[in-house]
Amino acid sequence: MSLPNLKTFEVWFVTGSQHLYGEETLKQVAVHSQTIARALDASPQIPVKIVFKPTVKTPEEIHGICQEANAKTNCIGIIAWMHTFSPAKMWIRGLNILQKPILHLHTQFNRDIPWKEIDMDFMNLNQSAHGDREIGFIMTRMRINRKVVVGHWEDKNVRERINTWCRAAAGWNDWQGAKFVRFGDNMRQVAVTEGDKVEAELKFGFSVNTHGLGDVVAVVNAVKEREIDGLVETYLKEYKVVAALKPGGAKHQSLRDAAKIELGIRKFLKAGNYKGYTDTFEDLHGLLQLPGIPSQRLMADGYGFGAEGDWKTAALVRAMKVMANGLPGGNSFMEDYTYHFDPKDMLVLGSHMLEICPSIANAKPSCEIHPLGIGGKADPVRLVFNVDGGNALNASIIDMGNRFRLLVNEVKAVKPKNDLPKLPVARVLWKPLPDMQTGCAGWIYSGGAHHTCYSQNLTSEHLQDFADMAGIEFVLIGNGTTIPQLRNELRWNEASYK
Ligand code: MN
Repeated sequence: MSLPNLKTFEVWFVTGSQHLYGEETLKQVAVHSQTIARALDASPQIPVKIVFKPTVKTPEEIHGICQEANAKTNCIGIIAWMHTFSPAKMWIRGLNILQKPILHLHTQFNRDIPWKEIDMDFMNLNQSAHGDREIGFIMTRMRINRKVVVGHWEDKNVRERINTWCRAAAGWNDWQGAKFVRFGDNMRQVAVTEGDKVEAELKFGFSVNTHGLGDVVAVVNAVKEREIDGLVETYLKEYKVVAALKPGGAKHQSLRDAAKIELGIRKFLKAGNYKGYTDTFEDLHGLLQLPGIPSQRLMADGYGFGAEGDWKTAALVRAMKVMANGLPGGNSFMEDYTYHFDPKDMLVLGSHMLEICPSIANAKPSCEIHPLGIGGKADPVRLVFNVDGGNALNASIIDMGNRFRLLVNEVKAVKPKNDLPKLPVARVLWKPLPDMQTGCAGWIYSGGAHHTCYSQNLTSEHLQDFADMAGIEFVLIGNGTTIPQLRNELRWNEASYK
């Protein structure tokens, strides 16, 4: 399932007003909002189509536009702005049925006060400063999650915040009706990768269902030799394949076996219209290897992936890839693996047994084969690479029993200072923010999983917006986080969700 082109999505620009001011004012309101909508639509900062909608002035018009937005499948959200005063009781019926995310753009047409010309007509036309407070009240009164963006519509920062929200809305839209498949169940006895799949479907809109390994093995076994030839050629072209795996090499058959597994899983996912999957090394009946390079390449193509049955992370990886589509950098399934506790330079080494997405690689990955200590299968083929330094984050969804929590830790990735000649897996090094002790302790107090989605190109704001759309708890650990404050936040959230 490749990633959707974000330009196929629409965000509707809806301006609220009322009939009180007369036709002349309403004409100006329409011209202004059209200008803003067009400018946002044309802006390279905005990844989706921004569609101007005629000014809404009555409860019927507001209800109508919300109904239309719900029904339009490629409308992923609404930007609402009150150019003038729009008495907000008019919005109740519409907001009550609105199922799409909403961004409240608190802007005004003119940037500056025209000091010499300003008169009462100008004041009547340009009154979003209080018109937007009225709509703000009703949304707060109705407990509606939304994003409030303040500033002039030509301001770069304002557009960036709209961009962020649009991307979150695209990820949210992608989850609605999405299907994720689990090959086998969970890794035995593991707690954090479990969760309530019924509640997830209610809350998130995606379904998770299991197939026995035999179902995918049948597809793998039906893969033809010439298909394998083709994919092996792709491997040879795209990666630095070690000699043993090359044609004529002692382990070339293992490369062919890996290619066969990739082709089979790919076909299975395509036929079932799945957006992601999980597997587990404890249940590989009929597969020769734990899928390494197959899962890495499927992730790079936009599929969500979670190891050991971790369907929550598989879904999150997929959504984050959709949100980030078109941005430089990548998103990958990740696991906090091992630590460097040098007091002067504390680091986390992130990796997995095999399955790190090459979208975050800093160079052409090398394609290697090494034994895997667990699972009892043949040596799996995998892509090995390093990852560049820079700002990044780890995100994790956990099931708290009475709610889902999206936890984010902002991190600073660092280039490996030493070679890791014996490490047979892709790896990332990072420093958790605000520091190692607070970052890791905060994560553990918050119940965050060892599995995450590691992102080089999304910010905590994308994920905050996303959590708001889903209506779930959001916890951020970053610069400014202190343990006493975080522990209080967790305690207060506990009460808030009671
Ligand atoms: Mn794992």
